[in-house]
Amino acid sequence: MASNQKLTEEQTDTDSSSLRSAAACLQRYLIAHRKNNQLYDVLQHLADETLDRLEEGKDPRFNYRSLQLAVSGEAEQDPSAWFSRHWKTLRAFKSKYGPGLNQFAANHGFSHYPDIIKHESDGGAGNQALIALIACPVEIAKGVPARTLGIHHQDIAYIPAETIAIAGWAKLLFDREYTAEGWRKWFLIWPTLLWIFALGLITAGSLLLLVLSPRPLTTIDLALIIFAGLAVWCCKREIEHVTRWADDQIVMTPESMLGFRERSVCLELYRPNTDAPKRARMAKYVAQCPTCGGQILLDYGEPDFPRRIVGRCESSPREHVFSFDKATLSGYRLRCPPQLSGDFTPDRD
Ligand SMILES: [Zn+2]
Repeated sequence: MASNQKLTEEQTDTDSSSLRSAAACLQRYLIAHRKNNQLYDVLQHLADETLDRLEEGKDPRFNYRSLQLAVSGEAEQDPSAWFSRHWKTLRAFKSKYGPGLNQFAANHGFSHYPDIIKHESDGGAGNQALIALIACPVEIAKGVPARTLGIHHQDIAYIPAETIAIAGWAKLLFDREYTAEGWRKWFLIWPTLLWIFALGLITAGSLLLLVLSPRPLTTIDLALIIFAGLAVWCCKREIEHVTRWADDQIVMTPESMLGFRERSVCLELYRPNTDAPKRARMAKYVAQCPTCGGQILLDYGEPDFPRRIVGRCESSPREHVFSFDKATLSGYRLRCPPQLSGDFTPDRD
C-alpha cells in the first residue's frame, strides 16, 4: 500500500514536471510568434496560469468563464458561446501546431510540448467543461537536422510561422501550404519577364524615334526620357530579383504578393524529394533575440551584409543582426560587442 502511494506521488511529480515543461515551452513559443489576437491571449493565459497554479499546488484546469474574464476583461456574454469560437481552432491544436512545437521544444531544451484538452463536465446546471494543457513528450526523429544535436555553433534557432497572410490574387497560385508548383510556379516568373521585355521594347522604340526626329526637344520629350530612365531602373530591379531567386534559392517575397500588414516573408525554391521538380514556397521564420528578447524577423542584409538574408531584431534592427541558414534554420550573431571580440570587423562577405 505504502509503495503504491509512493508510486502515485512520483507519478504526480513526473506529470507536474512534464506539464511545467510544456507550459514553459508554450510561453517561449508565444513570445517568438507574438500575435495580437484573442486566440493567442487564450494560449498565453493557459501557459501563464498553468505555471502559477502548478507552483501553488492547485488544479491547472480552467472553465470558460475564467478564460473569458482573463482574455476579454468581461464575462457578460455566454462564456460557452464565446469559447466555442476558439475551440474550433484549439481542438486541432496538436495536428496543426504539434510538429512546429515539437521542433521548437527540442531546439530549446524542453522535454515536453503542449496540447490542449477539454474535460467534459458530468452535466448539471452551472457545470462547465474545463480546459487544460497536457504535456506531450518531445520526439526527435531520425535524421534530425544538426541544430537539434548541437553539432555546430548557433546563437538562435528559427521556427516557421504557422500562418501567412497572402494577397487575394496570390491565393490563385499558392495552395494552403503556401507552395506553388508546375505552371503556377512559372507564372511567378514569366509575366514579369514578358512585362520587362514589352517595357524595354516600348522604351527603346520611343528613344529611337526621338533620336531620329529632326525637330527640337520639347517638354513632352524630356518627360519621355525621364520615364524611360525610370522604366530601365524598374526592369533592372525586377531582373535582379528573378536572377537572385534562381541563384540563391531564396528571396524576400514582394509586398504585392502579401496581405495588408504582412511582411518578412521569404519566397523559397525547394525540392520535396530528390527526384521531384523544384517548387516555390512562401515561408516566414521567426526567432527570439538572445540580447533583448525581441522578435527576430528576416530581411535583406544590404547594405552591411550584401546578397544575404539576415534576421533583424524588431527592437534594434541595425545592431541585433543574425545570420539565417535555411537548411538548418539556425543563425549566429553578425555583430558582436567589441569587448567580446577584440579586433572584430563587420562581416562584408
Ligand atoms: Zn534584440
